[in-house]
Amino acid sequence: MGLGPTKRIGEWLGTAERATGFARLDAEAFPAFEPGWVWLTGAGPGAPGLMSLMCYHALQTCDVVVYDALVNPDILRWVKVGAELEYAGKRGGKPSPTQKDITHRLIDLARAGKRVLRLKGGDPFMFGRGGEECQHLALAGIPFRIVPGITSGIGGLAYAGVPATHRDTNHSVIFLTGHDATGNMPASVNWAAVAKASPVIVMYMALKHLGEIAAALMAGGRDGGDCVAIVSNASMPHQQTAETTLAEAGAFVASADPPTPAIVVVGGAADWRSLLDWYKGAIRDNPIG
Ligand code: SAH
Repeated sequence: MGLGPTKRIGEWLGTAERATGFARLDAEAFPAFEPGWVWLTGAGPGAPGLMSLMCYHALQTCDVVVYDALVNPDILRWVKVGAELEYAGKRGGKPSPTQKDITHRLIDLARAGKRVLRLKGGDPFMFGRGGEECQHLALAGIPFRIVPGITSGIGGLAYAGVPATHRDTNHSVIFLTGHDATGNMPASVNWAAVAKASPVIVMYMALKHLGEIAAALMAGGRDGGDCVAIVSNASMPHQQTAETTLAEAGAFVASADPPTPAIVVVGGAADWRSLLDWYKGAIRDNPIG
């Protein structure tokens, strides 16, 4: 028996709605990507199938894509034929363009009348400097749209069988970054407060300083036996997860050297992995996710 009234998609549908697969979307009135606009868009954590419909629409209608290192190159297969691709990440040996360079480039491209798709990994507003880019676009009078994406700290963890919240584990979750603009462990974070504030702590960019962070959390009263899961390349066929404890996390990273990008989760949410880990075996053969 169903949980409520059951309906079946009926005969009253028009021809377009009866189309199957992605063809049905062709009849939908997606917002027009106007020349001179910048769409600041999240591509999701990696697996191409995790992008939003709005992101796909933007890939299909843009003139230029300015993309970051964390964007899975497989996603760029879905860009409209003829669109230009501009890489805004680090290039072998050479320093990466500064945030200022990138912002200026976006403004120049928009002023030249291009439809500019600024494509970022995960969600553009989660530790992705999307806020800074938008701020400069706004100040320069460039019209923009923000297309949120699935962030690695939620969707990436889901691919490792870690629910960011679970009623038996945690009623709150903290997201934080393990390094600040200077590359150091962020001094503005009140580590003692974080240690006590939430049973689950999700950390981006945290591998480099994980030992120091773990020490600060333990000094703040966090149990050294707390589970720490490190999920590398989440949602990608080469995803891998390592588990350690807070007390051993620093030494573990130094010896095992887990691949990056990696998301770190501290606390009981990681205990669900033993039951919920689902992204394994033949499932991983599908590059869409
Ligand atoms: N805006 C992005 C985060 C950018 S900061 C988002 O919402 O996901 C970069 C950090 O994100 C990396 O250092 C890593 O901690 C995390 N990250 C991004 N993609 C990841 C992936 N596929 N697997 C694991 N961690 C990832």
